[in-house]
Amino acid sequence: MTVLLAGARLPGRDGLVDVVLDSGRIASVSPAASTGGGAAGERIALDGRWLVPGLWDQHVHFTQWAQTARRLDVSRAGSAAEAAALVRSRASAAGASAAADAADDVLVGFGFHDALWPDIPTRELLDAAAGDRPVVLIAGDLHCSWLNSAAAARFAPSTSDAVLREDASFAVTSLLTAADDRTLDRWAADAARVAATRGVVGIVDLEYGWNLDVWRRRIAGGASGSSDLRVEFGIYGEHLELAAELGLRTGDVVDDTAGLLTVGPFKVISDGSLNTRTALCSHAYPDGGHGVANLTPDELVERMRFAVEHGLVPAVHAIGDDANRRALDAFEAVGSGGRIEHAQLIDAADIPRFARLGVTASVQPEHAMDDRDVADRLWSDRADRAFPLAELHASGAHLAFGSDAPVAPLDPWAAIAAAVGRSRDGREPWHPEQSLSPEAALAASVRSTVAPGQPADLAVLDRDPLTASPADLRTMPVAATFVAGRPTYDTLR
Ligand SMILES: [Zn+2]
Repeated sequence: MTVLLAGARLPGRDGLVDVVLDSGRIASVSPAASTGGGAAGERIALDGRWLVPGLWDQHVHFTQWAQTARRLDVSRAGSAAEAAALVRSRASAAGASAAADAADDVLVGFGFHDALWPDIPTRELLDAAAGDRPVVLIAGDLHCSWLNSAAAARFAPSTSDAVLREDASFAVTSLLTAADDRTLDRWAADAARVAATRGVVGIVDLEYGWNLDVWRRRIAGGASGSSDLRVEFGIYGEHLELAAELGLRTGDVVDDTAGLLTVGPFKVISDGSLNTRTALCSHAYPDGGHGVANLTPDELVERMRFAVEHGLVPAVHAIGDDANRRALDAFEAVGSGGRIEHAQLIDAADIPRFARLGVTASVQPEHAMDDRDVADRLWSDRADRAFPLAELHASGAHLAFGSDAPVAPLDPWAAIAAAVGRSRDGREPWHPEQSLSPEAALAASVRSTVAPGQPADLAVLDRDPLTASPADLRTMPVAATFVAGRPTYDTLR
């Protein structure tokens, strides 16, 4: 069945157009009213609203994002003591409730930023706040977690540290997300519906774990909301050989029904993060460290080469400037393009290498807003090299925006607003010389165009995205979203 979107305005172009959708694709784009009223199928009046390609969030951890709303928010804690006080009030509220859910036994909090805390997070602080109830607080950057004694006894019995970093922390996080698939799938369906209200048509899901089975299950279950979303899923090192055995190649469509599930990249985490002070940097942090490399340069090349030989495109997590240089070196050695995830701190000499090597900068502009104060402190002599989006764009590098949800909310308009304005909450812009134009920011958030033959993945907007202020971009009102020609969110009828 065809759908006629009548009276659409395309940003940056004069006049209104009619857009016909047929069999999941855009069939035609023509001056308004020239299409005639006789076409079979449905007519939806856009009344001069703006029509743009549907938006992609190109780096999310979807299951964790779906859980985030259920977790104690500790993102505003200014100290370890403040975080512990939030835990205390949540624990005592739950204790008072007769309906306390046994499955929610572990008190999970999310979002702390300890890099600027004046005090030290200890097990004792959380023990005093929650007693015998296990408490796991996950950092806003997902790269460390803070456990009390009961949680440590259950999830990390071999260590005496209160704060676990990198792999030790990922191990705990994956145990927390392992429970109760049916509940997680229901929350994931909710999260997909919310994403559609922001114009999102697709995600690159880099959740830790074996994502093929998760998404096949969600699609088969029907209530997944995944029929509302295109999903490209990442493969991690521990599953690389399995993926190779199964013959999964990046770009393969792997669901039988809707054709919305696609094999994504091979994800390798080469260094840590800024807040956790594990991002691998050429210069020392205030404590003297340079961060961590999770693999030697040879190991990185070896992993990437194996993936490329099996048809999997590498996506390398690299945050510090040394990690980015090593990742680019590895792409050069392997002779493959791919993606660098985050690309937060880049030496000027490495900027042109992205375009030359065909490496996409998969960046999360909203992280710059979350991290500007930490970057000014921990990268004080080179904060001007942080989040250099304008330089990357000018060099011809392909930019792909994402949220890294739950690190930032799954909302491409936050990323677009941060990239254009380099500001949030009315603060002065941070390194505004690295701002992008709205055109470039929008282009980094989509994968198609509004033209015949393109996928009918579309978002209908109530504001012009090319002339809106950064604050108005952040709150962009979305009127409808279409995936493969089907409305996944619709306020127009
Ligand atoms: Zn991530």
